[in-house]
Amino acid sequence: MSFTQLRLDAVTRRFAGHPALADLTLTITRGEFIALLGPSGCGKSTALNCLAGLLPLSGGSIWADDDRLDTVPPERRGFGMVFQNYALFPHMSVRKNIAFGLQMRRLPRAEVRRRTDEAIKLVRLDEHAGKLPGQLSGGQQQRVAIARAVVLEPALVLMDEPLSNLDAKLRLEMRTEIRRLHQSLGLTTVYVTHDQEEALSMADRLVVLRDGRVEQIGTPEQVHTRPATRHVADFMGYRNLLPLTVAEKVGDRVVVAGTGLRLSGTSVGPIDLGDDVIVGIRPEDLRLVASDGIPATVEVVEYQGREVAVEARTDNGVRLHLRTSERPGPGDKILVAADPARVLAFPADDGAGG
Ligand code: ATP
Repeated sequence: MSFTQLRLDAVTRRFAGHPALADLTLTITRGEFIALLGPSGCGKSTALNCLAGLLPLSGGSIWADDDRLDTVPPERRGFGMVFQNYALFPHMSVRKNIAFGLQMRRLPRAEVRRRTDEAIKLVRLDEHAGKLPGQLSGGQQQRVAIARAVVLEPALVLMDEPLSNLDAKLRLEMRTEIRRLHQSLGLTTVYVTHDQEEALSMADRLVVLRDGRVEQIGTPEQVHTRPATRHVADFMGYRNLLPLTVAEKVGDRVVVAGTGLRLSGTSVGPIDLGDDVIVGIRPEDLRLVASDGIPATVEVVEYQGREVAVEARTDNGVRLHLRTSERPGPGDKILVAADPARVLAFPADDGAGG
């Protein structure tokens, strides 16, 4: 089933009355790489399984251009799937695993051979084509699983945490590999992960989910530099999340204060003078200054290559996380400041608790 646009309209899936996914509305354009991102249990796999047709919807609809898709059985959608456990046939060689789907479609033998060879080359398994899955490393097995999915030239490839069983180095390599395949084959990919770095580095757009609901849909840059809510900020590595109060406000420029702090920042979402807010700042956006900063005392310093991660505490006991290429030591008195554009003030009550 091919399409130029795949439209999810208020897609909802409930389990025993509880919505695992609520009102997901999203248009995926052919050629896009979409990452579904969020903490464990937020509904990512549910969304993917609804797309695949493995889970019926409790509400909403899915459309491939003008054709209704959510009533079409999974095998007739013809989407490629790659899971965390590779699910290869253990008694079949790499080549046979990859050729299997083409044979099931009763394609001529020469075409099966040609497309299988191409796919093997694409995932760089030429030297291993005759081996059984058990004779391959985890990364190689995952490449077989990917080749098996893409050899069928599916209109959509669905991947559910495909790299989570691999070690850190392989994960990095496979990220690039998957992105390369996506581009060179002109695939449309929906990729589930709970790893924000993975999502940011691979996807054209991210869908950030929380408790089954969309918190934000945007490009990596939008989600990273302008998280829509404090929950997205939290998830995107804004480790400083400070409960403060709006003391001044002109347009979206604010001064926030409390617990001995006073900071200039930028409002995200509807907030007014006197409101309680959560102020998010990334560790890399706090810097050490010589004057006019927040006084704090260094408590912990962690080596992180060119930079160190510093945990410091203000005189009022507020803990701050920062990254710096300077080398302060525990007990040192420091002054800390941030660019107002990078100090984001979110409404304190933007959703159900948490
Ligand atoms: P993870 O990263 O842990 O896989 P996820 O974001 O993929 O999480 P889902 O697997 O989509 O989350 O689950 C979303 C919610 O729906 C969870 O609260 C989960 O417990 C619930 N859920 C998922 N599948 C079922 C099921 N078959 N029966 C009942 N509840 C389910």
